[in-house]
Amino acid sequence: MRLANPNSASAGALTDSQLDRVEGVLLAQAVGDVMGVPYEPGEVPLEGPAQLLGGGFGDYAPGEWSDDTQMSLYIAEITATGADLTEDAALDEIARGWCRWVTVDGATDVGAQTRAVIDAVADTAAAPGIAARMRAAAADLHARTGRTAGNGALMRNGVVGLTRLGDRSATAAAARAVAELTHADPLAGDACVIQAEMIRANVMAPAWQGMPYFGANALATLDLIPAERREYWHDLFDGGILDADHYQTPPAGDGFAVHALGHATLAFIFANRAGHRSAAAMSGDRGEVARVWMNLLLDRAVQASQDKDTVGAITGAIAGSYLGASALDPQWVAAVHGLPRRSDGTDRTAADLRALARATATAGLNR
Ligand SMILES: [Mg+2]
Repeated sequence: MRLANPNSASAGALTDSQLDRVEGVLLAQAVGDVMGVPYEPGEVPLEGPAQLLGGGFGDYAPGEWSDDTQMSLYIAEITATGADLTEDAALDEIARGWCRWVTVDGATDVGAQTRAVIDAVADTAAAPGIAARMRAAAADLHARTGRTAGNGALMRNGVVGLTRLGDRSATAAAARAVAELTHADPLAGDACVIQAEMIRANVMAPAWQGMPYFGANALATLDLIPAERREYWHDLFDGGILDADHYQTPPAGDGFAVHALGHATLAFIFANRAGHRSAAAMSGDRGEVARVWMNLLLDRAVQASQDKDTVGAITGAIAGSYLGASALDPQWVAAVHGLPRRSDGTDRTAADLRALARATATAGLNR
């Protein structure tokens, strides 16, 4: 198998293994989202493995993904063209898509912070400069409340990790630019930078080596965080509340982007510990091992969290970039669907997620 240089700006074509991981980003995100949906309001207890029940805040159909994956797909429609997300031409299109999502396309379940920002600008969505107005609304919300590091930017961020696979700095800049459309708190942007770089690095690395922990190694991304906050993040993951030692007790309050990201990284630690005791780990069958680990990761994400669909989505995007779409349970892949609808009025399905992820990765590689 030909291996691409992980950091080359001209990495060329992607291998089959890398393309499986590209497709895994949106697909495993959607599966994690769908696994958490029925249990998010807390009225249906989660006992044993997650079931395909639907319900949740959006009164979703069984298998229907929620706002996390919906918002991602408005990004993906733009990134599939290879657009530069640090430029307002692309950000205007994303901002316009989110406004359409709320006002026309039937969003039923919008996070409070995202709702406040979109509502402030949606009536001028068609006019030039919508991205700048959305950023200003987000900054205004931050100035008034001082608390805008909700997990709503991170939940939709996975596909941004695929936009410039050969370029760490460009990936980080894109993640921050999309986050800042709705979330002015730099910690929300930082969390997106960290997740996007994990995803980029996972896809570009050689095929899976069998150690799930390293697929969520936040410490390897921190040179991309501004110097004034690098130590804060380092100390969280090294000795702090997100240290691997705390894998059985992820922090409460996962509506906070920092804690939500920690749930994902600690799910990797949990899966690593549990997975090594499994029969599959001993079998040497890499495909079977990946399936066991994917299930452990997604199950842990929804079991251990409060905001279950969102932590499921955040964890799923990273897990997919590491283990690939082929590690997902085919029953869940066949069931996932949702907004935004195609031009013929039908829901998107797994095939659309695969195609949008692939188009994003290949278009960005050639920039
Ligand atoms: Mg949701």
